[in-house]
Amino acid sequence: MKSANFYGETGLNRMAERRTDSAWLQSLAAGTDAVLIPIWRTRNLIAQNANNPEAVRLSALHINDILDDKSFLIFLGYQDGVPHFSIDLSHMDEPHEHPALKETGEFTDIRDIGLDLPREDGGLLAYSRAIAQWHKTHRFCGRCGHPSVPRDGGHMRLCTNANCKTQHFPRTDMAVIMLVSSGDKIILGRKKEWSKDRFSILAGFVEPGETLEGAVAREVMEEVGIPITNVRYHSSQPWPFPSNLMLGFFAEAESETINITDDELAEARWFTREELLDEANAYAEKPHSVSIARRLIAEWALGIEP
Ligand SMILES: [Zn+2]
Repeated sequence: MKSANFYGETGLNRMAERRTDSAWLQSLAAGTDAVLIPIWRTRNLIAQNANNPEAVRLSALHINDILDDKSFLIFLGYQDGVPHFSIDLSHMDEPHEHPALKETGEFTDIRDIGLDLPREDGGLLAYSRAIAQWHKTHRFCGRCGHPSVPRDGGHMRLCTNANCKTQHFPRTDMAVIMLVSSGDKIILGRKKEWSKDRFSILAGFVEPGETLEGAVAREVMEEVGIPITNVRYHSSQPWPFPSNLMLGFFAEAESETINITDDELAEARWFTREELLDEANAYAEKPHSVSIARRLIAEWALGIEP
């Protein structure tokens, strides 16, 4: 198995098989070793220890100071033998003024710090943020419109309408991201909102009723008008901002004639291996770059693609 991409490593045992046991979850939360991971709006609480940012893990002793009728605990799982819970404090206007949180750290968008975070903190905080975000946007039943309530340690929402009782689960939106090559070059595209020098490989969402290979071929045709073959899976990366899972592929072009039909792309062109190598070497020294796109480009340029 390949090493995990950034945000894909949490070191957690999610203990999914026990999440329905509310008595067990309550006893965990009441234990002295449990820790709390606070979320505020889309921000995670980050401590700056000698310029090395890391997740703030609050002692469970603070649970009763923080938990109120507008918040609930989400069970994330065990990390290093310690139960971790997340708590969303978005209803507070000034959470950093709360006595239990004062001077512990700053609420920060983790995408602004990326690789500076320990890898397992990156995964843990992205997961915690994503599931909190899902609760915020799924407060009502999509089937009947009644309010829903969190269950199973925050991994399900149950409709409160006795005639409905639909269970809702966090969703993950699948997106394919693919490096398309032809001999010694690959296609990179530049989105209209990107700077002149920023290029990346092509990507797009999987549609209902579609295979992953089908989505790869459709997206490449849609964006640059090129038929492809030999689609090979590489690895995946959670990108839960708010809910994507990126599935990385290599594919080969059957034509080199680019015909941009996608409104989002300002340009797309072929880049030779030579052009990419300087950059690829930089990434080879630091193999775990934040995005799977950079990793696929580096591995292809260095000749280590599947
Ligand atoms: Zn309902």
